[in-house]
Amino acid sequence: MSSQHLSNLRDRIDQINLQILELLNERGKIVQEIGEEKKKQGTNRFDPVRERESLDLILKYHDGPYEVSTIKHIFKEIFKASLELQETDYEKTLLVSRKAHPENTIVKVGTETIGDGVQRFIMGPCAVESYEQVRQVALAMKEHGLTLLRGGAYKPRTSPYDFQGLGVEGLKILREVADEVGMSVVTEIVTPQDVEQALEYVDVIQVGARNMQNFELLKTVGSVKKPVLLKRGLSATISEFINAAEYIISRGNNQIILCERGIRTYEKATRNTLDISAVPILKKETHLPVAVDVTHSTGRRDLLLPTAKAALAIGADLVMAEVHPDPAVALSDSLQQMDIPQFNEFINELESFKAKLV
Ligand code: PEP
Ligand code: MN
Repeated sequence: MSSQHLSNLRDRIDQINLQILELLNERGKIVQEIGEEKKKQGTNRFDPVRERESLDLILKYHDGPYEVSTIKHIFKEIFKASLELQETDYEKTLLVSRKAHPENTIVKVGTETIGDGVQRFIMGPCAVESYEQVRQVALAMKEHGLTLLRGGAYKPRTSPYDFQGLGVEGLKILREVADEVGMSVVTEIVTPQDVEQALEYVDVIQVGARNMQNFELLKTVGSVKKPVLLKRGLSATISEFINAAEYIISRGNNQIILCERGIRTYEKATRNTLDISAVPILKKETHLPVAVDVTHSTGRRDLLLPTAKAALAIGADLVMAEVHPDPAVALSDSLQQMDIPQFNEFINELESFKAKLV
């Protein structure tokens, strides 16, 4: 073969490549249009019947030199890329995304405006055990000007034999103490049926890690007029977490705080692995305020302060931790709750750390 001939063939290949590219992009644009249409109609992106028909049509006209399997493979890749193209377009339209709403969402809780750039604390005992126990913690918080009082009345425990919480009695205690000292109540609700009753007592509804994909609960809290603190699931990806928040906002409630609380990894040195980079990712991808729960992510009292500093330094809107007047006898999470002197030191340290950040 003369070198001129070879060079001509190569030129021809380059031209064909460009033609393929042009056709692929033209195809891509049509796929995007189909995606928009499907979205309007609310139909599924992936249609296996349609894909089978397209593939059969291609193979009907195929007559070499490539193997049938090769052609199938190439077109499967094109179909996959198209689906991804539609997915990206869908993603852009998520109501929780920054693309849909560039400004920060401010969540109003009592007198606090969460997400306004001021970094705050949510504190309180793991579980509500008694009026006196909650009151002692609330009074200690008041000394520091904190108003977001959190405690569990319904406790989702790993073992059914562990303390399950005081239920409505616990909600009443929280409300009573919060009203006495001028605070707001943040507490977890575990079933959709309990949401309505809780509205009477609660200022922020917490959806716990174990319920992050309890879609019925998400829909229910999405249709009430109370802020929601949504915790990341034990093994949830950021995308799953964001989609869980989407369930809430899609029902009309945009008052959502996302809470990173550690994820399950192979690491055993901490109860969970605090995914600190989730904070800037969530702040970038969504317009919602982000909290970091240092108690459940670390499961270690000695790590509460350094991880809380990391959370503040990386831009979390809130730091959450648990405090108990006598952690040794706490009915849940006794290993990682702070006592009141430790709590005082924790807040003092973090307030001076915050001052250094600005
Ligand atoms: C809690 O916040 O009380 C709790 C049980 O945490 P998580 O749902 O993150 O495990
Ligand atoms: Mn706890």
